[in-house]
Amino acid sequence: MSKVNSEAQLPPRDSGTEPSGAGGAASQLLPQSAGSASNVSQLRISEIFYSLQGESRNIGLPTVFIRLTGCPLRCTYCDTTYAFTGGQNMSVSEILRQVAEYTPRYVTVTGGEPLAQNNCIPLLSALCDSGYEVSLETSGALDISEVDERVMRVADIKTPASGEVERNHWENLQFLTRHDEIKFVVCDENDYQWAMQTIHQYHLAEKCPVIFSPAHGTLDATQLAEWILRDRLPVRMLMQLHKLLWDNAPGH
Ligand code: SF4
Repeated sequence: MSKVNSEAQLPPRDSGTEPSGAGGAASQLLPQSAGSASNVSQLRISEIFYSLQGESRNIGLPTVFIRLTGCPLRCTYCDTTYAFTGGQNMSVSEILRQVAEYTPRYVTVTGGEPLAQNNCIPLLSALCDSGYEVSLETSGALDISEVDERVMRVADIKTPASGEVERNHWENLQFLTRHDEIKFVVCDENDYQWAMQTIHQYHLAEKCPVIFSPAHGTLDATQLAEWILRDRLPVRMLMQLHKLLWDNAPGH
């Protein structure tokens, strides 16, 4: 099977501030051809591969992953920096054709930050129309309101130690339903305390399932588990399965 592969503080509750650079920086950091007027039906794709879902409520399920090139953020723990650039242009129909070769039930669109490419929105709808159970992994820094409601949106909330806490697009919280998920990647105890405060402040556990993951190689997973149990937090702790199995090698 051929594979495309190239390459802290909380804001006030009523904060309507656009995350800095969410639009402009995104376009600056995208490959030049992605989303340009001459390629309106195309997306810049880093890789398409078949693996086990490593996160979310679908953890462990065989899934096709479509990784879009480009991201306007630079998280300290980013494990997909190879997807910041490179890749190749593909039309939605070409992507659908390649996905279909795996005859999957589950398809995940990820990145990079997939929503940084405008054509991600029609791609998600086309995947739903094709009958797949579709999920979107997004940084939480860009607007999710236009995403097809059939898609399970897994939205990060960036913590202080990510280095990108000011990019959180808090308006997204109003669009999340029980069908979606919120994820915190926790790097240290300060992150944990901040995440706990955020859950309480925004009543996140009442909106949708909340996931805590320890930053791989940074925070001891057992320590995080003990904090969660000590504080009776209503969250699910997950360790990224693909890293345990394949040590984060591209294509998994
Ligand atoms: S949002 Fe994701 S892809 Fe972008 S820098 Fe952060 S971890 Fe990496």
